[in-house]
Amino acid sequence: MRCTSAHADSWLVAQADTVENRRVVEGTLGCPVCRVERAVRGGVAWWSGEPAAVAPDPRPDLAGDPLMRAGALLGLQESPLPFLLCGAAGLAANGLVTLADAPLVLLDPPDDRAAPFTTIVRGAPSVPLGAQSVRGALLEGAWASEPARVAGIVAALSFRGRLVAPAATPLPRGVRELARDADQWVAERAPGSST
Ligand SMILES: [Zn+2]
Repeated sequence: MRCTSAHADSWLVAQADTVENRRVVEGTLGCPVCRVERAVRGGVAWWSGEPAAVAPDPRPDLAGDPLMRAGALLGLQESPLPFLLCGAAGLAANGLVTLADAPLVLLDPPDDRAAPFTTIVRGAPSVPLGAQSVRGALLEGAWASEPARVAGIVAALSFRGRLVAPAATPLPRGVRELARDADQWVAERAPGSST
């Protein structure tokens, strides 16, 4: 993960008190440039705000046809690069991990039910991942409604990486629309794009 502060790109250094399955469960993520430190508690990285318990969301995990659809739109497949689930799209995490062997990163999910097997980040102002380091991204809610955040997600996508967003979201620069219906559109990172 990278620092989101206004300085040249820098990777964060993890100080782990507890590690499970190669993920930091308890510890800190520190930036060697601006020295900011972010707490990791219960597998959740708190980018801003004090670490706190998040109340369970009553909505069920995405399952059945909607889950298969989400996996297909994302182009979910075995991958060393992570797939990004933003906002309420985090409800797909429990199902998607059963479909393919690929890491999942959740930004501001409704609750922390996926913490045992994903990377969760709360309160980051922009995507805390490097350029072209994400295989696909599924957007919902606030993460889809702010153009600057969407542009940051496009920058984090690898070439041909999929971007899936609510139909009302304006198509950002740097991606090519593949399909859309009344609910969502799916696009891919345009090859050779520098945005
Ligand atoms: Zn920094």
